[in-house]
Amino acid sequence: MTSNTKLSYTDKLPLTCTRTGTCCHGKMVRLNPWELAKLAEAKGITPKEFRNLYCDFGGIQLRFDGDPGWKDLASCSQYKPGFGCKVHSGRPLVCRLYPLGRQKQGEKKHYIHQGNDFPCLEGCPDVVKLPSMTVSQYIEGQGAQDYEAVQDSYLELMQDIADGAFSLLLESGLSESGDKKTLPMWRKMGDEKPEALSKRLGVQWIDRLMLHELSDHSNDYLSFTESHFASLQSAFEEKLSKLESLDDYSEASVLLMGLALHLSRGLGAEPSDLATHWIATAKTHGASE
Ligand code: SF4
Repeated sequence: MTSNTKLSYTDKLPLTCTRTGTCCHGKMVRLNPWELAKLAEAKGITPKEFRNLYCDFGGIQLRFDGDPGWKDLASCSQYKPGFGCKVHSGRPLVCRLYPLGRQKQGEKKHYIHQGNDFPCLEGCPDVVKLPSMTVSQYIEGQGAQDYEAVQDSYLELMQDIADGAFSLLLESGLSESGDKKTLPMWRKMGDEKPEALSKRLGVQWIDRLMLHELSDHSNDYLSFTESHFASLQSAFEEKLSKLESLDDYSEASVLLMGLALHLSRGLGAEPSDLATHWIATAKTHGASE
């Protein structure tokens, strides 16, 4: 469905969190660094504190370790029975869009939902009393536009980091040397569980990737992403300035690819699919596995 799609009677979407519903139980909520920072702001703590208390895998996933509720499924760490979301003002994109999902290919984006009826009808049947609205009205009402723009920026960053891994492999002489260890590591990381990949990347790089403080203008997502990308760029440049041997280039290519894959998971992508795609691309440019 597009943003102009009119939602039908049975498709009505909740204007606000209805406190007893399906959306905060048994889900997997992935996070980008802006979402992590906004959650922390809503909680009144730093992104690092929020990450350490309420997230898994270095901050790419919200922990669902609350009391079981709807269908006996565990609730989100930010869900309070009888109240709802404790971080409503900073809730992430997936929560703002629920029960819609978002797919983006190139410049085109689509909104989707699973099944014939919205799950809200089962968990929060009161939604049928809400006024009908278009998808774009719903998105606006949820304040999701900035979060969508940030998500797209981080998707671009993910591609830029992967491009860096490609350059180190293909433009340093590494691939031409007959290297056969870099691509297998890309594949291994693509198949790795998130906890193993975050451990492999190390605390310092995971922190650089996921933790960035909001400025005083906390709703200015452009300045947030710009300053975060600049600080990552400077860390990459420092790393690259120390490379000497082909082994160093391989290790740096693996690091950048691992960071791109880890970030991709936080953005809702499937790292194994991406790794397979990127390995195939590298091979068409002469790299070997
Ligand atoms: S962040 Fe809030 S809205 Fe999102 S799943 Fe957790 S409790 Fe629900």
